[in-house]
Amino acid sequence: MEKYDCIVIGAGPGGAAFARGAALKGLKTIILEKEALPRYKACGGGLTPAVKNLLDFDYSPMIQRKVEGVAFLSRGEEGIVYYPDSMPVEMVSRSDFDHLLVTKAVSAGATLVERMKAVSVKESRDEVVIVTDTGDIFSAQVVVGADGARSIASRAAGFGRGYGGIAVEAELYPRDPAVLDEYGKHSIFGFGFIPGEGYGWVFPKKDHFSVGIGTSRARMPGLISIYEAFVKQFRFSERGA
Ligand SMILES: Cc1cc2nc3c(=O)[nH]c(=O)nc-3n(C[C@H](O)[C@H](O)[C@H](O)COP(=O)(O)OP(=O)(O)OC[C@H]3O[C@@H](n4cnc5c(N)ncnc54)[C@H](O)[C@@H]3O)c2cc1C
Repeated sequence: MEKYDCIVIGAGPGGAAFARGAALKGLKTIILEKEALPRYKACGGGLTPAVKNLLDFDYSPMIQRKVEGVAFLSRGEEGIVYYPDSMPVEMVSRSDFDHLLVTKAVSAGATLVERMKAVSVKESRDEVVIVTDTGDIFSAQVVVGADGARSIASRAAGFGRGYGGIAVEAELYPRDPAVLDEYGKHSIFGFGFIPGEGYGWVFPKKDHFSVGIGTSRARMPGLISIYEAFVKQFRFSERGA
């Protein structure tokens, strides 16, 4: 059994940022990540201004586009409503951005183990023991469950099975780059297209759009047709995306 001061499960932004902070404070820290990095993450990849205050290093090479603000599209209403003074958003690719964060954690002294999934988290009076799918066993006084929406750490701590929503996202590359100029100044949210408490988004990146829909329901029959209908609201769908 290998002993650490701190075990972080999951190398997403939460886990990587925590591991970096712990390593910088001199704690012997290990990050367990089930995927090989960089890994794909279904996400709009929009960073709000708060991120600048959270990170004390330069991540500007990751920014593919800065949008001026947010715009809204409502089903049954005419056109997209642009809010000129709304929040600027920085657009990144999650695989690149997340990879930068975990690289920073490793530079700070954290150990990263990829392709290793935590399968059990057991807490005793003095320590927490993690068993992985490779049969490795680690223990620490502090375990950070940064293992996403289906977190096993969260379940082990008694917080239930987690969030049950569903989403579909695709990266759409327009053949006509002028479409990116047309839609590239705002992140667009669409309401009323998805049953329940769902919404759609169109986030412009350097050379493509992240377009997705999501709902808080655990099941959504016809999700792909709903997605296609949402995409049809935008002229870029007629122009080769
Ligand atoms: C469709 C969609 C769009 C979104 N768009 C945006 C957006 O535009 N802007 C924004 O700010 N947020 C957005 N979010 C939210 C954002 O993705 C999350 O808030 C963020 O990813 C949470 O980071 P995290 O580090 O906690 O977890 P995650 O990024 O989910 O990372 C968890 C990591 O843990 C690993 N892992 C899981 N289980 C285990 C295990 N048992 N053992 C080892 N490793 C494990 C996973 O492989 C993963 O790498 C979006 C979310 C969704 C679903």
